[in-house]
Amino acid sequence: PSTTADDIFKSLNQAQRRAVSSEAPTVAILAGPGSGKTHTLTSRVVWLIDHVGFKPCDVIVATFTVKASNEMKTRIGHALGDGREKKIILGTFHSIARRYLAAYGKLIGLDPKFGIADDSDSRGVIKRILKRLDTPIDPPVARAWISKRKAKGTSDEQVVKAKNGQAVESKALEQCYQEYQEHLERSNLLDYDDLLVRCVELLRKFPHCVSNIQTVLIDEYQDTNGVQYDLMKLFAQKHRRITIVGDPDQSIYGWRSAEIRNLHRLLRDFPGTDEISLEENYRSSSSILTASLNVIQQDEDRYKKVLKPVHDRGSRPVLRKLKGPTQEAEWIVSEIKRMRLLSGNMINFDDVAILLRSASLSRHIESVLGREGISYRMVGGFKFYERAEIKIVLDYMRIIHQPDNNDALARIINVPKRGIGETTIKSLLEEAERNSMSLWDLLDKHCRGDRIAKTTIRKNIEQKISGELIRLIGSLRRKLRPNDGAPINLVDIIQQLLRDLQFEKYLEDTYGPEYESRWANIQEFVNLAEEFARQGQLEEEPLPVVDSLEQAPDNDVLAKFLANVTLASDKQTEDKDQEGKRLVTVSTIHAAKGLEWPVVFIPAVYKGSIPHIRSDDDDEERRLLYVAMTRAKALLYLSCPLYTGNNGGSGGAVALSPFVEDLASGFLQRGPSFDRPVMTQVAKILRRNLPPDDVIYKGMPAMTAPEDNLFPIDPNHPQQSATVDSDRNNQHAGPRKRQKLQNGQ
Ligand code: ATP
Ligand code: MG
Repeated sequence: PSTTADDIFKSLNQAQRRAVSSEAPTVAILAGPGSGKTHTLTSRVVWLIDHVGFKPCDVIVATFTVKASNEMKTRIGHALGDGREKKIILGTFHSIARRYLAAYGKLIGLDPKFGIADDSDSRGVIKRILKRLDTPIDPPVARAWISKRKAKGTSDEQVVKAKNGQAVESKALEQCYQEYQEHLERSNLLDYDDLLVRCVELLRKFPHCVSNIQTVLIDEYQDTNGVQYDLMKLFAQKHRRITIVGDPDQSIYGWRSAEIRNLHRLLRDFPGTDEISLEENYRSSSSILTASLNVIQQDEDRYKKVLKPVHDRGSRPVLRKLKGPTQEAEWIVSEIKRMRLLSGNMINFDDVAILLRSASLSRHIESVLGREGISYRMVGGFKFYERAEIKIVLDYMRIIHQPDNNDALARIINVPKRGIGETTIKSLLEEAERNSMSLWDLLDKHCRGDRIAKTTIRKNIEQKISGELIRLIGSLRRKLRPNDGAPINLVDIIQQLLRDLQFEKYLEDTYGPEYESRWANIQEFVNLAEEFARQGQLEEEPLPVVDSLEQAPDNDVLAKFLANVTLASDKQTEDKDQEGKRLVTVSTIHAAKGLEWPVVFIPAVYKGSIPHIRSDDDDEERRLLYVAMTRAKALLYLSCPLYTGNNGGSGGAVALSPFVEDLASGFLQRGPSFDRPVMTQVAKILRRNLPPDDVIYKGMPAMTAPEDNLFPIDPNHPQQSATVDSDRNNQHAGPRKRQKLQNGQ
């Protein structure tokens, strides 16, 4: 072992230590946000490896997002210090399932070269089927129905509402489901649900695959759904050792069939579970915690637990009403700039997150950040990989990986333009189907003079297909099997693809002057591939060999890259951009789960946004707000425009969210939200140093915010201060003296 028990214990409190070293087979840690659940879970992984003696490759750790799993791997790696974390089977449920299916899927008749259909692929296929079936069912409704059907094995809902408001019997949906599934099978694709469902099937029929697994640990347990629960049990079927950590108050994936009930199921299925609660919140200032608890306590049916702050009160959270969304964005950006200046860079751009109920709210924020020259990164639901230009490149790569992917091929067969019209594509697809072959095989055969296809393709177009498309893909496929056994160079493949397609020129021809930002996205994509290869993610350790089970080699670099891209849905980025500029984070609330920032802004806290107009589960919406608020360590800002259009213009008037309406008096609504005493408190909570005043006040610009109840800081007016009572005495002293008092001088 590379750690001592002391190393592990020194950053833990009593209850956390007990959880880390519990000898019970099943351990359940249920505790509120910021209580160190994730920290305890990673410490337990290190404990189990170094002090109980489990081999890293016999431990499964499942988390909810790719980002969370990367972060966990880094932390465990840091503690172990010798690279053994690479052997742990650690990732999201989907990525772990993918690895098992790639290795052992053959046992249940799966072609190991399967591709993964992302959400937009699934939506597209379903839309086509519904159109053919000529039913009025809304594609998203059908998609959700199918997903539930797969996750639960059956569907409770026998009848659903269609676009025209009429009820449709599930018979039509069942039909759509059948055709959808046939389509995926024909194209050798698994959708997100299939990854889990097929893995359950594999591990049920062939428990051998996981006979080495000693223990299974799961973070964010409250968001597991029925299939994930089954999967967890199957992973742990040999020794039944499971550790889960979670918080029912943070359950925000009900719409994806996550079930809070899984908690009771666990306690029932695993009697004797060691239940441990953690009661100290190490993350947030006491006033942020109080405000957050006030929000969640409006739900009276919740499972109640204790959560005590360890930090001082800090400054009161702010609630502001602004005129319109642009003014709101301007206010946020000016606050960020001012707090950075006022704190002498103690608070910097990468300390700040702006958390949104839905991705569509980002427009105003993005435009003001852009105007002010502040760099930012987007996380969650912004779908980098679904941008048109990226999707084209990805489709080409999918075909290089797996030419049977008809959907992908049909999408790019005429991109760049090769003179093949929609009708030709459609009749070729039908023809392929009639001959039970893939579109690729049909074209390939056709171009070799084997005229199966009755569809007439003009000679010059045929030349284009064979000369450009088939040759191009063929030559790139050869790169996947280098003769000399050299490692596959992913970036090289992408670069050649871009060159041979003359992709930059294609973008310019298609988008005109707008093409540059699209080309920049492509460059970014190449960088991501480079990063991916550099981080060694392509050389992920294979699953351990168990007994005499034969394992298909999971060394297909392209498959791994595509799976990662598809499952991540967001590009993973650092806290700094390429020029080293620190980045503000703009994220959806869903994607911010489990993370923390010194400063958090939550704009658009109005009825219709949160609770969202399309959600019928107010409790879940309230939990979402709770999750967002509890990400903040030291400063929290909620805001709400009076109108959704600017200047009271086009958009309608909106009302403050009912979740905060009754609590508004607990927020700071007027006056400056921070000043020197606030900064001093913030420094204390963050354990950072605040530079002396004279460094800071020099160069403080005049206020530019369009908001009238924000006025310039006057450090000699204590009544304007946002700092809470405990600091009152100090506020009468000048800023200099207060600083000294704080430092105990
Ligand atoms: P969430 O529910 O939001 O996922 P969590 O319970 O997983 O929260 P962590 O993210 O593990 O909480 O911890 C929150 C913060 O508290 C982290 O910065 C962590 O380093 C810190 N922390 C956890 N335990 C302790 C401790 N015993 N002493 C000091 N700091 C701690
Ligand atoms: Mg956590």
